Amino acid sequence: EPASATPMPPLPPPSPPHFIIVPLIAQGHTIPMVDFARLLADRGARASLVVTPLNGARLRGVAEHAGRAKLPLEIVELPFPTDVDGLPQGIENFDQVTDNTHFVPLFASLQKLAGPLEAYLRALAPRPSCIVSDWCNPWTAGVARSLGIPRLFFHGPSCFYSLCDLNAIDHGLHDRTSAAGDEQEKFVVPGMPVHVEVTRATAPGFLKEPRWAALRSECLEAMRTADGAVVNTFVDLEDQFVACYEAALGKPVWALGPFCLSNRDADAIASRGNKLGVQQSAVTAWLDSKRTASVVYVSFGSLARKLPKLLFEVGHGLEDSGRPFLWAVKEAEVAAPEVREWLEALEARTAGRGLVVRGWAPQLAVLSHRAVGGFVTHCGWNSLLESVAHGVPVVTWPHFADQFVNERLAVDVLGVGVPVGVRAPVTIFDDENVPVTRRDIVRAVSALMDEGEEAEDRRRRANEYEEKARMAMEKGGSSYENLTELIESFRQSRAVEANRKQSR
Ligand code: UDP
Repeated sequence: EPASATPMPPLPPPSPPHFIIVPLIAQGHTIPMVDFARLLADRGARASLVVTPLNGARLRGVAEHAGRAKLPLEIVELPFPTDVDGLPQGIENFDQVTDNTHFVPLFASLQKLAGPLEAYLRALAPRPSCIVSDWCNPWTAGVARSLGIPRLFFHGPSCFYSLCDLNAIDHGLHDRTSAAGDEQEKFVVPGMPVHVEVTRATAPGFLKEPRWAALRSECLEAMRTADGAVVNTFVDLEDQFVACYEAALGKPVWALGPFCLSNRDADAIASRGNKLGVQQSAVTAWLDSKRTASVVYVSFGSLARKLPKLLFEVGHGLEDSGRPFLWAVKEAEVAAPEVREWLEALEARTAGRGLVVRGWAPQLAVLSHRAVGGFVTHCGWNSLLESVAHGVPVVTWPHFADQFVNERLAVDVLGVGVPVGVRAPVTIFDDENVPVTRRDIVRAVSALMDEGEEAEDRRRRANEYEEKARMAMEKGGSSYENLTELIESFRQSRAVEANRKQSR
């Protein structure tokens, strides 16, 4: 260095990277992204969750918990767009929808958040490091591009599903299964490292109905132009699928989960998702009174709604199974007085053995309780992963979207599931013609919970995944170290930017 050069003042330490997280406003999408935001904040990165006011109100518990723990996590509320045709006032979340015709306008209203998001981001100094937005929020792509901020997409399903979907598009399977034909015609998903068979009815493809065509192509375009993907899974669960998905996408795939294990204390678990329909302590006390791994937990996620006919079959099936059960039913499912009366009679007949939760159940607290030994699930990816991460094998009863492909993963690949035997999807509000009877439920629950060799094998495998999930999230584990790498890569780009500014 020439003697005459004035030495540069030492650089201030770069501020921690700042992630802007834009979830889709449906519980199955928001919950994992909130967990992800907490993980980032736990590790010293700044995380801002962008939502609308109603969803912000639901996250108050998360914000308060973060405040108490002094985590750099904040909730940012953008006003919900009001000028959208066909959407009743007050609907800001997919779980409030009561009519199939509301879905398209709800997505249309989200597109209108692009302007307010861009204005909010422009006003931030320093500039945020990265946007992580849901795969179904393609409108964030334009915002990221116009501000020059890197963008990762978060896709909710398993990597197994996402890879099936991508291969179905890239190898023409999607075109074949979209063409008219026998719903039960079988197809092999091309390009998969294992044999995966689907039918026309259960073939992968998010938003694949014709009314979604425009949105789907925007989502695919936003996926192709993103800088990478964040997925809620872990390498020891989906090793080859993560690797193949990364190769097929041609960009980094960050496997950082299971995100649910970021909820380390009772406080965080209680504030997860929604206002509980029941006292958590009452559920825990009831479970405490049960033998280890004896209880079947039953829930079909945040969206699927059962009509009375099927609800009754579930109830009778659980009663006839003779097993202790904890069943989460939705408020909307028991709105009619005759359904309420029927449920009360069931509760009376199964008193001491069955517990029915009306409304939002503390799912993580339930699945992590030693008394729970099986889960009848719709195979939403969060539920399936939460189950596996707690060593709980499943009865699989897929309803729609990625759930049928997730069922194949649970049953054929991971070996932790017993199918209830459904062969075609339903819409959220209409399962009138689903041929599941109480006998199917008794058969599947008995197979799951009995002491036979197959059941023991499923239990053993689930327990192994639980152990591996825990290790993945601990220091030195694959997900922990992947997150370190993700955060560091943005810390470095911040430092480069700060350097550039200083030398100007
Ligand atoms: N969940 C919960 N209590 C309920 C219903 C659902 O905590 O009563 C949570 C569940 O733990 C999971 C999410 O809501 O994290 C549902 O996501 P999933 O992908 O399983 O299904 P979706 O709701 O998207 O169909």
